[in-house]
Amino acid sequence: MSEIVDNNPLDLTGTRISVQKPEVRYDVQGEMPDEERVRIAMRSFVKDFGAHSAIYMESCIHCGMCAEACHYYVQTGDPKYTPIWKLELFKQAYKREAGPFAFVYRLFDLKSAVTAQQLQQWQELIYDSCTMCGRCTMICPMGIDIAALVSQARHAMFEAGLVPHELWAVAERAEREGSPLGATASTFADRCEWMADEHEVEVPVDKERADVLVTISSIEIMKYPNTIADFAKVLNHMGVDWTFRTDGYEATNFGLLSGNAAWQKDMSMKMIKAAIACGAKTLILPECGHAYGALRWQGANLYGKPLPFEVLHISEYLARGIKEGKIRLRQWPESVTFHDPCQVSRRGGATAAPREVMRALGVKLTEMGEPGLNWCCGGGGGVVTIHRADELRYKTFELKMKQVEATKAEHLVSSCSNCRQTFDDGQAHFQWDKTMESLLEIVAANLINT
Ligand code: SF4
Ligand code: SF4
Repeated sequence: MSEIVDNNPLDLTGTRISVQKPEVRYDVQGEMPDEERVRIAMRSFVKDFGAHSAIYMESCIHCGMCAEACHYYVQTGDPKYTPIWKLELFKQAYKREAGPFAFVYRLFDLKSAVTAQQLQQWQELIYDSCTMCGRCTMICPMGIDIAALVSQARHAMFEAGLVPHELWAVAERAEREGSPLGATASTFADRCEWMADEHEVEVPVDKERADVLVTISSIEIMKYPNTIADFAKVLNHMGVDWTFRTDGYEATNFGLLSGNAAWQKDMSMKMIKAAIACGAKTLILPECGHAYGALRWQGANLYGKPLPFEVLHISEYLARGIKEGKIRLRQWPESVTFHDPCQVSRRGGATAAPREVMRALGVKLTEMGEPGLNWCCGGGGGVVTIHRADELRYKTFELKMKQVEATKAEHLVSSCSNCRQTFDDGQAHFQWDKTMESLLEIVAANLINT
């Protein structure tokens, strides 16, 4: 693999930090014959087929409703982007290898065997053109969780060495260095010191004991470092006993996004161990969508038992702090629309929390349709890292821009740094006049410190 990740951690000017376009693409990893790739992928599919996926595979009624829920289909009209079609190979493998009538399917060749060429073509459908946003899941009358099945299908693709170049590279770097974007422990500690000086705020790092462990995403460390100071301003204002820890700070999980379950576990376990080591009762996840899904909803499974602390997204923690009277805010009566990060809101269920925070700020909120169901930014699921997907991503971003424009709101706010990065990139591409603002940043700027 060629090195594709920018090693300049201090460059804050790029709109899409640190993932550069590879000169030569390597979208197939490892040396192995085609038959071996197919055998490995099939083995992984069969291993992952549980009762849920079997029910999903059997229950599609081919109504096509999921198509209109998917930004890729809506913006292109291309049937290959129909959500359930993205699972066709998964279904083919299920029917032939694991379903109740698998031997009949094999005997009469009713479903053909999956080929290496099909697997390679499939890469585009389950990586480049699925953000795992879950809109199709919400719309499906049979409750088929297509987003979860795409995530599951990525396991087989990773094992078979069929991950898009950039996504594989950032995941591998995250596993090797502890951060997908070069935000190593020492870089993070330096940035904490810098932010503490710049904002004249105390930023505790590596306290041995603390009630609250705060984690952060590499995008925030490298591109939006003021987030470090914003966390400090809010938690200090609340009088909380908290800390960052250099042995468990990175919340992004490219193991999850690339499909490597072992790396996903390694990345989650760093935070889990750090929280246990300092005796934290609460672990706060930053404004990062997939980090929420990875730890809040999958953390206990990876740990093997219930986590000995609660896990909250920062928007939930802010909402709680306001409710308990620990956060006092000035009014900020601006005209705002809120972009729901798919993995926190639609997939994660934390839809009410940011709205409670905005209510406390006194904003004039105009929703983009039903809360929790607004269009995806198009950059989640690791898609923003994949350069060959740029054209398609910009096409889907146009849908999002229209939705934002329709509200006529002056401010665009969200609570996911990956969405923010996608919006920054889209803003630069389309020379759009809207800049996404962070909910945490707005709260930190409006604290009443007595
Ligand atoms: S999860 Fe989102 S991006 Fe993926 S198929 Fe469904 S609607 Fe489309
Ligand atoms: S909406 Fe559900 S049932 Fe209808 S085609 Fe899509 S996956 Fe099948």
